[in-house]
Amino acid sequence: MYGDIVILSGAGISAESGIPTFRDSDGLWNNHRIEDVATIEAYERHPEQVHDFYNGLKIDLQKARPNPAHLAITELQNGYRNGTVSVVTQNVDLLHEKAGNRNIYHIHGQIDQAVCMNCGRITDARGEVTTETLCAGCGMAATLKPNIVFFGENLLRMNEVDALLDKCRLLIAVGTSGAVYPANTFARIARYHGADTIEFNLHATVNSYDFDRHVIGRAGETFPRFIKELLAES
Ligand code: NAD
Repeated sequence: MYGDIVILSGAGISAESGIPTFRDSDGLWNNHRIEDVATIEAYERHPEQVHDFYNGLKIDLQKARPNPAHLAITELQNGYRNGTVSVVTQNVDLLHEKAGNRNIYHIHGQIDQAVCMNCGRITDARGEVTTETLCAGCGMAATLKPNIVFFGENLLRMNEVDALLDKCRLLIAVGTSGAVYPANTFARIARYHGADTIEFNLHATVNSYDFDRHVIGRAGETFPRFIKELLAES
């Protein structure tokens, strides 16, 4: 059977937990244009507005509960004996953590953290962050940014993710559109290194050709079924 497994998740895995995806809401994220809340230019021009958006989003995301797709990953991690199971997520919500998943790589950042633009320190930021909040590292005010990767910024933990992609024997993409670089190259890279690739989505995606198998339907239904079969075979 397979060796190491990488699960690549996108906003679609959290849709059934009530968190709208960006592309399925006409390019709006919680009724905001992405350019107004997820670019460095927006943050530099209107930091208060950007903080307000993420403080509000944080409250919504903290209320959300994991769905059967998130929980199936924990089941896989507990039952799989043929290698490690890692979760590489583009999501900034914490539903993988809430479901008890382990080995989680948040490549687009996470809603419960802030990063200091002066000293680089990452701090826990479960509560509200404003331009008045002092950095716990350098003590400066007005330097904290939500630890969310904005357009044009480097992704997080990519060295570790590259190593996982080289080594895995199965890559499973769940609820990701294939429109966001570089996550949309991961299946191709893993496949190049010999992995089988499977995608779970509501429909075919722009990079469906990078996958050996496609499972169409709601991830909360299709994915747990697949995990049961995978565990039965392993
Ligand atoms: P995306 O590019 O990953 O697209 C979402 C995909 O999920 C679509 O292809 C859609 O068909 C699929 N999908 C929707 N519901 C599904 C379901 N029930 N089962 C299976 N598939 C389903 O994500 P995006 O929404 O375009 O967001 C882009 C970026 O914005 C993300 O990568 C993330 O950084 C951020 N974002 C994060 C969250 C979150 O943390 N939950 C939500 C929205 C956006």
